[in-house]
Amino acid sequence: MKTSIIGYPRIGSLRELKFASEKYFKGEISSEELRETARKLRYENLEIQRKSGIDLIPSNDFSFYDGMLDTAVLLNALPERYADLGLSELDTYFAAARGYQGEKGDVKALAMKKWFNTNYHYMVPEFCDDTDIRLVGSKPFDLFAEAQHNGVKTKPVIIGAYTFLKLSRFMGTKKAEDFAEKTAAAYAEILSRFAAENAEWIQLDEPCLVMDMDESDKKLFVGLYEKILGSKGNLKVLLQTYFGDVRDCYSDICKLPFDGVGLDFVEGKKTLELVLHKGFPKDKVLFAGVVNGKNIWRNNYAKTLEIIGKITLNCGEIVLNTSCSLLHVPYTLENEAKLTNDVKKHFAFAKEKLGELAELKKITSLENPKDAPEYKTNSALMSESRSGENAAVRSRVNGLSEKDHTRLPEFSEREKIQKKRFALPLFPTTTIGSFPQTAEVRKARSDYKKGAISEQQYDEFMKNKIKDCIELQEKIGLDVLVHGEFERNDMVEYFGECLDGYIFTEKAWVQSYGTRCVKPPVVWGDISRAKPMTVKWSKFAQSCTEKPVKGMLTGPVTILNWSFPREDISLRESALQIALAIRDEVLDLEANGISIIQVDEAALREKLPLRRSDWKSDYLDWAIPAFRLVHSGVKPETQIHTHMCYSEFADIITDIDNMDADAITFEASRSDLTILDVLKANDFRTEVGPGVYDIHSPRVPSKDEIKTALRKMLDRIPSEKLWVNPDCGLKTRGEAETVPSLENLVNAAKELRDENK
Ligand code: GLN
Ligand code: ZN
Repeated sequence: MKTSIIGYPRIGSLRELKFASEKYFKGEISSEELRETARKLRYENLEIQRKSGIDLIPSNDFSFYDGMLDTAVLLNALPERYADLGLSELDTYFAAARGYQGEKGDVKALAMKKWFNTNYHYMVPEFCDDTDIRLVGSKPFDLFAEAQHNGVKTKPVIIGAYTFLKLSRFMGTKKAEDFAEKTAAAYAEILSRFAAENAEWIQLDEPCLVMDMDESDKKLFVGLYEKILGSKGNLKVLLQTYFGDVRDCYSDICKLPFDGVGLDFVEGKKTLELVLHKGFPKDKVLFAGVVNGKNIWRNNYAKTLEIIGKITLNCGEIVLNTSCSLLHVPYTLENEAKLTNDVKKHFAFAKEKLGELAELKKITSLENPKDAPEYKTNSALMSESRSGENAAVRSRVNGLSEKDHTRLPEFSEREKIQKKRFALPLFPTTTIGSFPQTAEVRKARSDYKKGAISEQQYDEFMKNKIKDCIELQEKIGLDVLVHGEFERNDMVEYFGECLDGYIFTEKAWVQSYGTRCVKPPVVWGDISRAKPMTVKWSKFAQSCTEKPVKGMLTGPVTILNWSFPREDISLRESALQIALAIRDEVLDLEANGISIIQVDEAALREKLPLRRSDWKSDYLDWAIPAFRLVHSGVKPETQIHTHMCYSEFADIITDIDNMDADAITFEASRSDLTILDVLKANDFRTEVGPGVYDIHSPRVPSKDEIKTALRKMLDRIPSEKLWVNPDCGLKTRGEAETVPSLENLVNAAKELRDENK
């Protein structure tokens, strides 16, 4: 069996591309220097894959910013406003990626969206009615030639026509279907060109095929490929799918003249069933995605061999493949100096996954694979029990019943009790939690971590910051205060570090978008809370004021979604373990006099399954109860808030209401307030604070514009349910814009109160 991968990370094992790009943006290096860094990184990646013995090495998986954006450029689909700036080719590209503000003009970037169920974000191509799709770029051909020059005939990778059209935005009256013919023609031309250049394979990525498809979707897909494949000549075309199974179009895929089909056996719940029951055409090569491209655990060779064994009977040639691009895992374990070998042996990052593919290739070629030393080492590892098991946590989770997920008394009872207790004015004002994180704050944290200042010095510094922050909020006139979150580097990492069962890496960065990378912590064992995590700071903050100060926690679903999860227990079980730990913290906060507790679920929406039919059973059925478990133990007079960083929850509005929080704040200012109609139509019960201004921009919103936004909200939301707050936390903002923005917010609320007396 041959081996292949779908794509390799491109930011550099030490984030070299990020740093070079940022220098280029600041004018510190030339475009040629940036291109040189990129060339070097591509060469290193090529060498690593070649040395690992990968047979089908991808090219064009490199990008200066994003693959969807690259495809838009390739196909002449970049809106004219970017070309009109008259910048160089590279700068035009970056203008579309990041926006441009300078002497040549002022244009916003393309929209950015989450790439399926990952934490990667892609740039959304924009079509207007006169967008003229045709092949104008040369990047895939250039990178193919570059790799060939370096001694490797690669498999060029391009986002497929269907996915490209499905993920684009159509600004005019025309829709995807209206661009199908020209798009197909452009792809056909790409195929003929690669055929002429003697490429063996081309990989067309079509992850959209794992989503729900209706008849018109299928028609679009089939129509596109009937045309495209007509031009392939001797070139072999691989239809690559990932992030799920292709149940809706499997038969169509089998009928079309693809030479290879890539299927995901890791996340595709029905992939094996499809291949076994419906059969797989013997004249096509099956690229079997058996090595998980999204998570960092070692492959279980026994399980993989079992899958391979089953499909071998049904298929012709099989190629061993990753389940998706390795873009979603960190580079290599070699950069992790602090993790012990006992831990590291359980992990495989991108480079180590190449090694796994090579081992699997070797093992499967043997008559008795189970005799191979690589196989034996792997099964010994898999049967080893990791040290992280915690019997008390396990039995606590097992003992949970419905009543642990049910807060009493019910919402309307609590609402009365709380209105009386807090006696807040109409339209109470608050913030989402963090206040500007200055360089001085970051330095104090890192000095403390390094041992450069004592715990006492650190505590004193933090307490002073909190005291100032409370004073500032009182002066501004906010009603419900926060402590400012100065002690936190990141809303997940902070809790991960306080909880037992988590592991942290040093260099395991994963690209989130463009030059931004994240370093998700790893859920290693059973999660438990060794000691209170936030009580000290919240209690101190509350001691500085008569006004209520919100306790501030991150919720279990968000903590889990922004980590690398375990694979030996279910996500549900991990979420419940984390929920119990956060629940203990909630109860401790309450016992220490904190009357309002906010549990952020910023990432709850993110991991909603790609297929609607899986939403409940695979996700919401445990995610919502996990959240409820966190707060079901508090007294009726304790108020529970939650916060979400987006407003695209129209589809799951009743589930959000069922989280049974007393109040929810969310982003609304950038999303034209359509969510408000949905709230109204569904009689949303929870009190709501749709963000009245965008904290991602340094702009100061005027009092009048905040009032206008609030009036719109009041058209749909009963006045006694409306909170007034910014979009999200203020940690990325400066004090200079934060103070006047909040003053305007408070004054807008006050004036509205007077009008509504
Ligand atoms: N409480 C957090 C903060 O204010 C919430 C951050 C977030 O939603 N991403 O920073
Ligand atoms: Zn947020």
